[in-house]
Formats: sequence, structure tokens, C-alpha cells
Amino acid sequence: MTHLPDRVVIIGASVASAMLIERSRELGFAGEFIVMDSDPNAPYDRPPLSKQFLLATGPVEPAEWWPEATPILNAKAIGLLTDKRTVLTDKLGEVVADAVVIATGAGSIRLPNEPAGVLSLRTAEDALALRNAVDAGAASAIIIGAGTIGAELASTLAQRGLAVTVVDFAPQPMQRFFSGHLGEEAKAWMHQAGVVTHFGVAVKSIQKTDAQWTVQVSGLDLHADLVISAVGARPNTGWLTYSDLDISNGVCCTADGKALLTTGEIANGIFAIGDVSARQAEDGTFRRFESWTQAQRHGAALAEYFAGFESMELEQAPYGWTEQFGRKVQVHGMLPPAGELVQVYAAEERNAALYRVGSAEEDAAWIGVNAPRQFSRASMGMSLLS
Ligand SMILES: Cc1cc2nc3c(=O)[nH]c(=O)nc-3n(C[C@H](O)[C@H](O)[C@H](O)COP(=O)(O)OP(=O)(O)OC[C@H]3O[C@@H](n4cnc5c(N)ncnc54)[C@H](O)[C@@H]3O)c2cc1C
Repeated sequence: MTHLPDRVVIIGASVASAMLIERSRELGFAGEFIVMDSDPNAPYDRPPLSKQFLLATGPVEPAEWWPEATPILNAKAIGLLTDKRTVLTDKLGEVVADAVVIATGAGSIRLPNEPAGVLSLRTAEDALALRNAVDAGAASAIIIGAGTIGAELASTLAQRGLAVTVVDFAPQPMQRFFSGHLGEEAKAWMHQAGVVTHFGVAVKSIQKTDAQWTVQVSGLDLHADLVISAVGARPNTGWLTYSDLDISNGVCCTADGKALLTTGEIANGIFAIGDVSARQAEDGTFRRFESWTQAQRHGAALAEYFAGFESMELEQAPYGWTEQFGRKVQVHGMLPPAGELVQVYAAEERNAALYRVGSAEEDAAWIGVNAPRQFSRASMGMSLLS
């Protein structure tokens, strides 16, 4: 049975919504998509912002994956009447549709009492401000937070010649991405590039005097020209505060993306895809991923649901990747924090390795470092060739 709406309003011109539109058109959807985004630079790709963009010149390029002939209205959603499937906006008044798709992604978490001038990175504007500061001669940076974005920034800024210091409350880099594995290896990547690290420390204060910043962490005063806050992202659900959707952890949804009301019922005709959506797992908990690939899968699966297909997109194990310190790091599956980590392949001359995490009998999860071929064979359950 198809569930084809005639008119779909999408909030967020993102990678998830691009895939929803593209796949819907492939499946013969002839209805109308109304897309709005509050960022005048949208659509663009976020992953390069912490990587190639900071090493290059020129503007942020428009995303090549945005479907041709799909206009984007520059407007901000400021409220939602769920029972009427009506989006309230700042510039377009009320927009009514048969289906509302929430694809508003996530925004940077800022530290409490963070002074003005501390940089962060989520948008094209943020990336431009950071690159301008480096181009203007900044010689050193303190990065607060060593998640994937903080670690990528450490790598890119070190490549640009800055003296980089990373501080984190966690005991190791990318604690969440690696579920606690590979901490010593990831620290070594940083140290080999000359990055100074302080793990397991709390930031006590951030102050600016003249052109220099001072960041006080447990017992230490650190000084630099730039301070960048990279302490994580929070789903963009502020505009849904007065709706009756359950936004306790992003937009709480069924496993296939139907938004839930605070009563636990499905909100008819309201869907959420990408980083903003938290999907219900078999154990009843809600899981949110901040992953480009996962966002695309959400978009494709929703298009297939509209078209009446049994979608296989969400059956796939989670996948994430990061690029830093000359390494492409890929993760397949949910890494069990207490699972045994076994190196099953290594090629030291290329800094390449493949690790299995968890027992071989169960569905193993995999971490690949500069080993895309071995990683993809392993994650498809195939034997490793030499
Ligand atoms: C610097 C950086 C590097 C990254 N690198 C990687 C990587 O290497 N690998 C990886 O897997 N992932 C990476 N990610 C994460 C990846 O980019 C995200 O998972 C992906 O962009 C999520 O897409 P999305 O569809 O959920 O929406 P987003 O890309 O977050 O887009 C949401 C859109 O909604 C708009 N919006 C928000 N609120 C409103 C509103 N009220 N009204 C109208 N519009 C609104 C925003 O302006 C935005 O354009 C990176 C992210 C960043 C910031």
C-alpha cells in the first residue's frame, strides 16, 4: 500500500532531505516538495568543513547532491501544529501539507558562560570565520573537545602550521565514536602530528586579554590565539518546544521515522530524518546518530515508505567515518564498549589496520583505518584477502 502524500513540506535542505527527494522522484512521486531552510548558504556538505575547506581558498561550494529543480525557500520554521500538519514560519506564514518532514539536523553545543569570540564549527559561516582567523595569522589554537570534529580540526589546523592543544574531559579522543576503543592509538596520531593533549581535564574558565586567550583547565593555564569549542551537537528542536511532539532526545520516532507525540502515539503525517531524529530500537530506547550516511538512509527509507515499499535501508548496520592525521577511519556496526578488540589486519607502511570488536560468533563490529578494501569485505561478512 502506498502512503503517497500530494504535498510534502520539508524543514531543512540537508543530505537526508536530498535523498528523500531524489529517491521519491526515482520511485515516480509526482507530488510537490516545499523545502525551507533558515541558512542562506544551504545546501552544502558539512564533512569537508573541518577538513579540505580549511586548507583551501574560495567559498563553500553548493552541495552537488541537491536534486536539480528543487527550490529552497529561505525561511525558518518557528512552530508546528501537529494535528493540522501546519508549519509556522518567520517569512512564509503558515505552510500546510499532507506530510511534514523534520530534517533540521543538529547545532553546536556551546559551553556555559562561553565568552564571545570563542569559535565553533557546524555551518558554512562558522567554517569561514575559522578559516579567516587562520588566514589572518593565528599561530595557535586550543580545541575544547576531542570528538570526531575536534580531532579533525586538530589534524587540519596542525597541517596549517598552528600549534594545537586539545583538551577533553574524556580520557581519550573520540570516546563516543570508538565506544572507548583505540584510545592510545588515536592519542598517538595526535602526538605524532605535534598536537599537545590534555585528557581527563575540566575547563574551569576561558578568558581573553589583548589578543591572547587563556583557558584554565584543572591546574593549568593554556594560552593561544584561538579557542574552538567542539563539545558536541544538540538536535535542532527548539522550534518544536510548544508542539506536542516528544522531543526529549531529538524528535523521538518509530524505527522507520514516524514522529511520536508526548502521549507515545504516532503523530499522523509527521516524520523526522537525519541527525534530528531519534529512532526507537528493539529494546525500546531511542538512538540518535550524527552520521552523513545514516541521514541518507533515513531519507531513502522514508521515500520507500511513501511509495509503499518494504525498505531495506534501515536494516543495515550503522556506519560512520572520519578523516584525520592522514587516516580514513571507518566504523561498521554498534561497537560494544566491553567487547574484545582484535587486530585482524595491519600494513604499517600505510598506517593501515582492521580491527574486529566483539566476539566472532556474534555480529561483529569493525573499525578500519586506511583499509577500505579489507573493511568493506569484513563488514559484508566476507573473508579477508591478503
Ligand atoms: C564539521 C563537520 C564535519 C563532519 N564530518 C563528518 C564525517 O566525516 N562523517 C560523517 O559521517 N558525518 C560527518 N558530519 C556529520 C554530518 O555532516 C551530519 O550527520 C549530516 O550533515 C546530517 O545531515 P542532516 O540531514 O541531519 O541535516 P543537517 O546537515 O544538520 O542540516 C539541517 C538543516 O536544517 C536547517 N534548519 C535547522 N533548523 C531550522 C529551522 N527551524 N527552520 C529552517 N531550517 C532549519 C539548517 O540550517 C540545516 O541546513 C560532520 C558534521 C560537521 C558539522
